[in-house]
Amino acid sequence: MKKHNFNAGPSVLPQFTIENTAKAILDFNGIGMSIMEISHRSKDFQPVMDEAEALFAELLDIPAGYKVLFLGGGASLQFCMVPFNLLEKKAAYLNTGTWASKAQKEAKLFGEVVEVASSKSANFNFIPKDYSIPTDADYFHITTNNTIFGTEIRKDIDSPVPLVADMSSDIFSRPVDVSKYGIIYGGAQKNLAPAGVTFVVVKEDLLGKVSRQIPTMLDYRTHIKESSMFNTPPVVPIYAALQTLKWLKNLGGLKVMEKMNIEKAEMLYNEIDRNKLFKGTAETEDRSIMNICFVMNDEYKDLEEEFGKFAAEKGMVGIKGHRSVGGFRASTYNALPKESVQALIDCMKEFEAKR
Ligand SMILES: *Cc1c(COP(=O)(O)O)cnc(C)c1O
Repeated sequence: MKKHNFNAGPSVLPQFTIENTAKAILDFNGIGMSIMEISHRSKDFQPVMDEAEALFAELLDIPAGYKVLFLGGGASLQFCMVPFNLLEKKAAYLNTGTWASKAQKEAKLFGEVVEVASSKSANFNFIPKDYSIPTDADYFHITTNNTIFGTEIRKDIDSPVPLVADMSSDIFSRPVDVSKYGIIYGGAQKNLAPAGVTFVVVKEDLLGKVSRQIPTMLDYRTHIKESSMFNTPPVVPIYAALQTLKWLKNLGGLKVMEKMNIEKAEMLYNEIDRNKLFKGTAETEDRSIMNICFVMNDEYKDLEEEFGKFAAEKGMVGIKGHRSVGGFRASTYNALPKESVQALIDCMKEFEAKR
């Protein structure tokens, strides 16, 4: 039976990425060896790194003065690497969910942290908008897409201080005005590649301003200087990322991708709003186009488990909601085909018709 992969992360990848990576694992570029058994500094791998960096910058339309890095450690390591490199006295954080809270927690190890606003008391079901960013902060940190709660900041906001964004779960889902950001980072395993590589886009002139010593591996300048080759980078995930970037380019780039993502999300939200059994959990204006959270309507609460089973029998995978929201979460990342969204909608309609 065809599986419809709604996993929140690691998650669905383009077939193009999976097939090309599988080929390179068996025989890389026809050299008679796997990509897993050659030096990252070899003449065969270097072009992969160079091309991945260049295509990443091209697709995101990154202006001059920024560097693209491919590192290890996940987005979670960036929670501490960002303040290590940027926080001298004070940093501002917008608390929109579990990941945003975790990022904020690490910053407190390095200096004063101002939480400009939080939607915690509403179980993070909206994005606070009425706040002011202290102009004496070293940076302002946001999480553009809240993977667990299904809310998203889809506009590039203006910040009087350098803007730092965790874009783990919405990178490449839409065009971004990179010039408004100081740092953009994320784990690749939601929208780009298998787990193991972390992307960081960093504006170079923000660095070198803190007075503390930074361990070599945690200093962005190390990785800028060595073009992500200070130590052995995660070569297979980087190769896979390059395939996804090529797939995105072939598709027509981020404007086209965004249009497709909005279309998929609207299809599913329309069904959630129409279907008498279900309701969305996020405030309408802040709904994410990547992670779509919904629960049973109060009078149908006891049908939750049954719907989960029904959907699984029809091939839906990974739609169980995160324990902090409950209900269901359908992740509709770039690589999820529209047909999968339609299959879930058909499933919801069919389940409703039996009531
Ligand atoms: C998944 C996720 C993370 C954690 O990423 P790791 O690479 O596992 O550290 C951080 N932030 C957001 C928004 C995420 O979705």
